[in-house]
Formats: sequence, C-alpha cells, structure tokens
Amino acid sequence: MSEGDLIYLDNAATTFPKPEAVYRAADAFYRAYGGNAGRGANPLADKCAQLVDETRVLLAEWLSAPAPEQVILTPSATVALNMAILGADLRPGDAVYVTPFEHNAVLRPVEHLRRTRDVRVEEIPFDRRTWACDFSRLTAAFQANPPALVCVTQASNVCGLMPPVVEIARLAKAANPRAVVVVDSAQTAGLYPLPLGDGLLDALVFSGHKSLYGPYGIAGLVLASDWRPAPILFGGTGTFSESVAMPDQLPSAYEPGSPNVWAVAGLKAALEWLRETGREAIVSHTLELTQALRDQLSRIPGMNVYAPPQDAPWCGILAFNVEDIPPQALETALGARGIAVRAGLHCAPWAHRWLGTLAEGGAVRVSGGWFNSEEHIAALMGALAW
Ligand code: PMP
Repeated sequence: MSEGDLIYLDNAATTFPKPEAVYRAADAFYRAYGGNAGRGANPLADKCAQLVDETRVLLAEWLSAPAPEQVILTPSATVALNMAILGADLRPGDAVYVTPFEHNAVLRPVEHLRRTRDVRVEEIPFDRRTWACDFSRLTAAFQANPPALVCVTQASNVCGLMPPVVEIARLAKAANPRAVVVVDSAQTAGLYPLPLGDGLLDALVFSGHKSLYGPYGIAGLVLASDWRPAPILFGGTGTFSESVAMPDQLPSAYEPGSPNVWAVAGLKAALEWLRETGREAIVSHTLELTQALRDQLSRIPGMNVYAPPQDAPWCGILAFNVEDIPPQALETALGARGIAVRAGLHCAPWAHRWLGTLAEGGAVRVSGGWFNSEEHIAALMGALAW
C-alpha cells in the first residue's frame, strides 16, 4: 500500500495531507530564504523577519486577534499552554477550573501548579445526558470558590464537544473580574471565531499543524486582553541585546530563541490557502462527512458512539468502541486495511473518564478534515462491517 492509498482519518492528531502550497513553501525556504529572523540586517535575515511579520499579520486576521504583536509564536501548542498556565500568578488556595475535556497539555501544567503552589483544581460540571455545561452548578462553584484561572478547550480532541467558552468566561469574570481565562483552541483555531479583544478571554492557544493545516514546529498564544503572563522562557530576542533582562515589548517579551522560520514559511502558505478556501467551506465539508459517519455508526448494533447529542455544539471529532473488541485491536485492524485512526486515551484521561471509556483503554477516534471525502467514510464503514 502506498501513502497515496492511505485513508487518513486522524486529523485531530495532525491534519494530513497539507495543501500543496505548504509543501512548496517548505521546500523553497531552505533554498531561497534559509536565514535567521530578527538577527541582524543581512538580506536573508531581512527576508526572514519580513516573512515572520507577514505571517503574524495573517494569523491576527485569521484568528481575529486584536493586534499582530499580541500573537506570540511558540514551537507547539503545549509550550504555549505552559506559558499561559505557569505564567498565571497563582497563590496557595487559588482555584483553577478546568473542563473534563482538557488535554494533558493543560491538565499536566495545572497538576504541576497543584503540587508546587498548592492551588485547588476544580472540574467544570457538564450534564451527562445533554452534554451541556451545568451553569447553575458552575455559578454556585464560582461563588463558593472564585476562579483565579479557568482553562477551557474550544473542542474536545476525543469527542468533538465544543464547550460554551464565552458563557463560562462570562460567569468566571462575573465571579472574579481578575480571573484569567485561557482557551485551548488547538483543534479548532480560526474555524470557529471567538471574541478576542473585548476583555473576556485572556489567552487563546493555537496549533499550526492541526486546524491551520500548516507544518509542525509552529504554534502560538494570542494574548487577547491586557493580561500578561509572567514569562517562563528567557533568552536572546535579537533586540535590546545590551540588557540581560527580557524586553517588555510584544511579541519579543515572550519569544526568546531563534524562531522556526522554516515552519513559519509553511504556515504562511497554509494561512493563504485557508483564506482562499474559507472557514465556512472547511467547517461545512468536515461536518457533513462526520455527521454522516456519526449517523451510520450509531445504527450498527454493538457499537458505542461517543459524540455529543445532535443539538450540542460539535466540531466533528468522534470516538467509538465495538463491544468486546479492544480499541487498539480495532485500530490495528483498520490500519491493516489502509485506514488511519487513533485508539487509546488521546492524552485526555479525564475526557475518557467522563465518557466512561477508561476501563476499555479508551476508544477509537475518527477525525476528518478538508481532504477527506465521502469515499473515505464509505471505506471506513465497509471495513467495520467485516
Ligand atoms: N490541546 C489539544 C486539545 C490537543 O488536541 C493537542 C494535541 N493533541 C494539544 C493541546 C497539544 O498540541 P501539541 O502536541 O501540538 O503541542
């Protein structure tokens, strides 16, 4: 089987393939650009600095960030989440609220804060029947223990549920105007715009290699309000080099070290492709395919489908288990038929606890994207009907 024949339904891990323009830009970079950005003013350094600046502008537009300099580039969403969470100025006893759908990129830095700063970690309640956030219980919890930090994923990377980010943020700020709200938008950044710049959301994390259809090695953090995390990374920025203190200016204050300009070149091409293709087209194509899959899977006897009810906000990622078959065995069997999905806990143990799939070792996750077609869904259904 060649890679061309592979049916790739693991877009939540990373989108694949990439738009052709991304491959071309990545190849062209080390042939024509290949310098460092913001380090000196030689022609290659200038070209690279310009590339980074232009990409930041495109990112700000695509993500509706208040200003390009409020878009901080990082090597991964994990690094960006660590910067926001560990950079929150928390004290012993402070309450940190997380949804049960957070990735370990959120849960582990929060657990680190629990162990080292003695913060208390609270789970945002969701109704098991409707999958809706239980606002009355959350309001009571926020009143009893006002939030200092709230981390909400824009979409679960296991079951695609999209928590009500804005409403949760509103309740948090009502309970404590100084609460910091961090949104993990790794799965959905740019596809479902959020209000940034009105003070409700403080930081939004995006990943270049997932919903932005770009390469690995580039992600970031939109500092959406006037909240600024304490920096956790220090180093050269190519600016104010006479000082051993980090510069105050954005974005340099949070961008020590040589940027991954190779990945930036790919991301810029991806952003141009996204703009041409349009977010509505990508969202509706992905949802059409995955909704059809959800309906068909739900009709198979012995199949447990883990996706929100029809009327709950959903980004199209779904998980399932077939009775008495371990998810890993299904993943291997599908792989042998040329279909790539992902089994296990998907780095989101609380989501599996919430879904009740921890004991089975998780579930099989299917995640579609722009480059999937009805034929891919039909092939998956055919393979499951063996
Ligand atoms: N958050 C979510 C919701 C994710 O799905 C992922 C990746 N699976 C991350 C954060 C971390 O992204 P990365 O591994 O690219 O740093």
